[in-house]
Amino acid sequence: MTERQQTIMRKELEQKFVERWPTWFEIGGDPRHTLMPYGFEFGDGWYDIVWQLCEGLEPFVTGATLNTGDAPFIVVQVKEKLGGLHFYTNKSNEAVLHLIAAAEQQSLVTCEICGQPGTTQGKYWIRTRCEAHANVKPGPGMSKAEMIEEIRLLDSNAN
Ligand SMILES: [Zn+2]
Repeated sequence: MTERQQTIMRKELEQKFVERWPTWFEIGGDPRHTLMPYGFEFGDGWYDIVWQLCEGLEPFVTGATLNTGDAPFIVVQVKEKLGGLHFYTNKSNEAVLHLIAAAEQQSLVTCEICGQPGTTQGKYWIRTRCEAHANVKPGPGMSKAEMIEEIRLLDSNAN
């Protein structure tokens, strides 16, 4: 996996998702099954979009067939790519895909840093920003290597 600078949502915000949907977000999970140990790979400004998405998904996941069987429903990866939110799950249906697509569209007009209206912009790095944050580049959030190290330390402290 190539090393690159990636904005990552603050851990205290991430923790709210883990507490609300503990089985969906395997923050300490095996990277062969989930990339969530890398964190929510976008700025704090998309917190509301993703929260509302998860609330919208809940009835489809808990009430429907998605959470049954050998593999329960999990969120595999949540990241920013080319200015937009990308939200990957291990299972889906038409309703779930529709809600995810709507959230991804909303992210393209929402500043990734502060959540205010924004536009997708940039030549060499494409990000969605409001006017005030137009020059905020990716980072200085933790690199993936730093994040993995932090998770390792948290795990070793827990044992
Ligand atoms: Zn902004």
